[in-house]
Amino acid sequence: MAKIKQLSTHEAQKIAAGQVVERPANIVKELLENALDAGADAISLYIEDGGKELIRIVDNGCGMDKDDAQLCFAKHATSKIASVDELTSLTTFGFRGEALASIAAVSKVTLLTKETDALEGLKVIAQEGEITVEPIGCPQGTDIIVRDLFYNVPARAKFLKKRETETRHIIQAIQSMAFAYPHLHLQLYVDGKQLFNCPSQETMIQRTAQLWDASTAKHMMPIEATRSDKGISLCGAISNHQWFRYDRSGIFFLVNNRWVSNNGLSRALLKGYNNVIPSGRYPMAAISIMINPALIDVNTHPKKQEITFAHPRTIEQLIQETVRAALESHVSKQIKKDVSFYQPSQTMPQSVESVSFTPAAFASDVKDISAFDDMPIPEPRTEKSISFAPTTQPSFVRPQETAQPMPIIETPEQMHAVIGQFAKTYILIEQEEGLYLVDQHAAHERILYEQFSKNFQDIPTINLMFPQLINCSQEDRTLIEPHLELFAQHGITIEPFSKEQLIIQSTPVHLKNAPLQEIVRTAIGWIKELQHVDTEQFHKTIHDKLRAQMACKAAVKAGDVLTLSQMQELMKDLHNSPNRFSCPHGRPTGWMLSLHDIEKTFRRKT
Ligand code: ADP
Ligand code: MG
Repeated sequence: MAKIKQLSTHEAQKIAAGQVVERPANIVKELLENALDAGADAISLYIEDGGKELIRIVDNGCGMDKDDAQLCFAKHATSKIASVDELTSLTTFGFRGEALASIAAVSKVTLLTKETDALEGLKVIAQEGEITVEPIGCPQGTDIIVRDLFYNVPARAKFLKKRETETRHIIQAIQSMAFAYPHLHLQLYVDGKQLFNCPSQETMIQRTAQLWDASTAKHMMPIEATRSDKGISLCGAISNHQWFRYDRSGIFFLVNNRWVSNNGLSRALLKGYNNVIPSGRYPMAAISIMINPALIDVNTHPKKQEITFAHPRTIEQLIQETVRAALESHVSKQIKKDVSFYQPSQTMPQSVESVSFTPAAFASDVKDISAFDDMPIPEPRTEKSISFAPTTQPSFVRPQETAQPMPIIETPEQMHAVIGQFAKTYILIEQEEGLYLVDQHAAHERILYEQFSKNFQDIPTINLMFPQLINCSQEDRTLIEPHLELFAQHGITIEPFSKEQLIIQSTPVHLKNAPLQEIVRTAIGWIKELQHVDTEQFHKTIHDKLRAQMACKAAVKAGDVLTLSQMQELMKDLHNSPNRFSCPHGRPTGWMLSLHDIEKTFRRKT
């Protein structure tokens, strides 16, 4: 007996609907897109029970006439294209004519619509594959009400997540649309309460203030870039290096105003933040990319969320560079601000006691944390309260250091200042946004590395009063001899001394206290390893490694006590240094402990 049966159109549609409607947020996205395609500039959304019970979207777009209203729920019914050839010049979101058909197949839909000049509106009910249309009085535009999602496909209903999760997905879909269209007036009501009211805005950065909390908005900065030769431009808002979250849900990419997920784009964004925010944390970003539609394919995914670029590398590079440049410029301004405010008093003791925080204030018998609420917030720290451990001579050698004039006090206010050293390793900087910690070794390493790169072959050197002998095997001596010039270029003069000995005659000023023998021995190891790579690569790698090694050895160490002026000097140099976010080995140079987090910990804020 034949086993094959043909499914009824309605049953087949219920199954096919899964391609478009997996969860309520997909419906919200499709309906928002339809409203925009219809030219709406004000949209209100109502969600109940994570969209499982109700999704209602009211727009002020062009509306539909009777024929369209009847046809819009049919499969492949679209007013947007007539043939596949038109896909390359698509200017609307929709083109498949699938959304309404799919939504109506798995829920109970009522649609009210009226064209601008029509005398009356229409009410369309689509349920169980049946469509009924009747005239009704209603405002211009379209009001679509979707109830009881998956009421007829229990197998799918089972996979819906709890109200909060589905609501979160919906909010993301709405936010993406709000970013793509700052001019759109969007309102969202969730379970009867208004969650957003976002009137029209000019820019994405203003949108972040409407959609995200005020603290986040304070940390957002605008970005903009164009590659006109490749027909690409981008603009948007990204969080600075002091603001991040634990997941990627604050990252939005829009391509030609369409919200897309694309791994390459996210990777490029994160690369822009490389070493700037801790690993495992993610920035907040809304980036809109405009590109010639002929250079993308949006038809690679049923939900139209994925996108393929003809030249992905160009876009990724543009994102990475733009993000990096924005962060660099932000940090520059900040470090400048930090070092320019504070000047130690002329009478400041050179060697005083170490920093001591008296626990007295906390010794009283405080049991209830709320007792702190009324405590006055301490005044900004005055010079007197900053003290430093007795100075042992740090190995922080700066030839021009003492001659440098100190920065001028711009205001008596001492916010934004280097306030001390912590654990003899971290420079503490007070900022409006929180406490900024700079790893003194990583920062100095970066500064020196960049200086060595810039002044390559022109490094100030000194002859060693006691030249240093390096004992090595004959084999090592033979190996290193042809490369002595490489060391000389870095200011390290080495000569053969005996069959199994080399001698170091002079060294860069910065390295005069550094373990020179160790540097040379390590370099012999690299030369051995790299013997087989081509000459150009060999030279480049050895130069890079030598520079990093020299910077590392010459840099101030963790554990070195620094004076206030040394720390300020270091911060100033860091500000002027390229690639200041990380040391040459990729470790971050600074980290922000935000005031917000501190206040949360002390329950001054929620
Ligand atoms: P598509 O958007 O791919 O064309 P849909 O199923 O989403 O397919 O919509 C079918 C058609 O219904 C659209 O092409 C459009 O003509 C009409 N339509 C849908 N929603 C609206 C709306 N909010 N306002 C006006 N027309 C609409
Ligand atoms: Mg559509």
